[in-house]
Amino acid sequence: MPDTPITIAIDGPSGSGKSSVSRQVARQLGLSYLDTGAMYRALTWWCLQQGVDLTDSQEVAEQARTFPLEIGTDPDAPTVHVGGTDVAAAIRETSVSEQVSHIATNLEVRATMRDQQRQLIADARHAGSGIVVEGRDITTVIAPDAEHRFLLTASEEARLARRAKELFSSDDAEAIEATHDQIVRRDAADATVSAFFEPAPGVVGIDTSDLTFEQSVAAVLDAVHAASAHPPVHTPDDGGNR
Ligand code: C5P
Repeated sequence: MPDTPITIAIDGPSGSGKSSVSRQVARQLGLSYLDTGAMYRALTWWCLQQGVDLTDSQEVAEQARTFPLEIGTDPDAPTVHVGGTDVAAAIRETSVSEQVSHIATNLEVRATMRDQQRQLIADARHAGSGIVVEGRDITTVIAPDAEHRFLLTASEEARLARRAKELFSSDDAEAIEATHDQIVRRDAADATVSAFFEPAPGVVGIDTSDLTFEQSVAAVLDAVHAASAHPPVHTPDDGGNR
């Protein structure tokens, strides 16, 4: 367990393995865990329930500011409730996956999410050892000053096969075709507002295409340990800035 609170920011496209890897890293380091995608999904679920027109950007932005979201950050049992309803399973349904990019490309929604996510990070750092936060814009926008920042990538082929197995328990041609929209179109839409295909300066890129789950977790943990053992050296003339 780290001595001083840390934030580990992990971004990546769909199917890069970032959710399962982030959660396991949090477990192993005794940190909290925040799945920011679940927040966008929960807002999508809520708007669909309320009959909000997702193309009405003002109304969606207003819902983002006021909807009754409660998110639990225990990596052993992360929870998502909206207005007291447990939506953990509902937000993974295809109806939400197909619509979430409408919500996530609304810049006012992103500003609200940014404030809420920064507050959750601050709370976790205050209350415990820190937090692993995963999403699309964590390394660049939400927590660019995180102690550790990673971008998990994988080839499109590997990402499609993984998600097809998750959704349909198969990676045959039919399952891959049915998964295409959820990976390729969604990432293309999401990439219009966040940069998550290439690591930003200072962000460690990890290609998980040929790594098992355990190897991906180990790659992140090794990099965290290596950076903690050898923190960046600041010279007097850089003003101590990274
Ligand atoms: O990670 P996950 O696939 O569950 O994310 C669901 C959606 O939430 C993404 O497709 C994207 O539209 C949005 N998202 C985002 N920024 C984040 C996390 C997720 O725009 N930091």
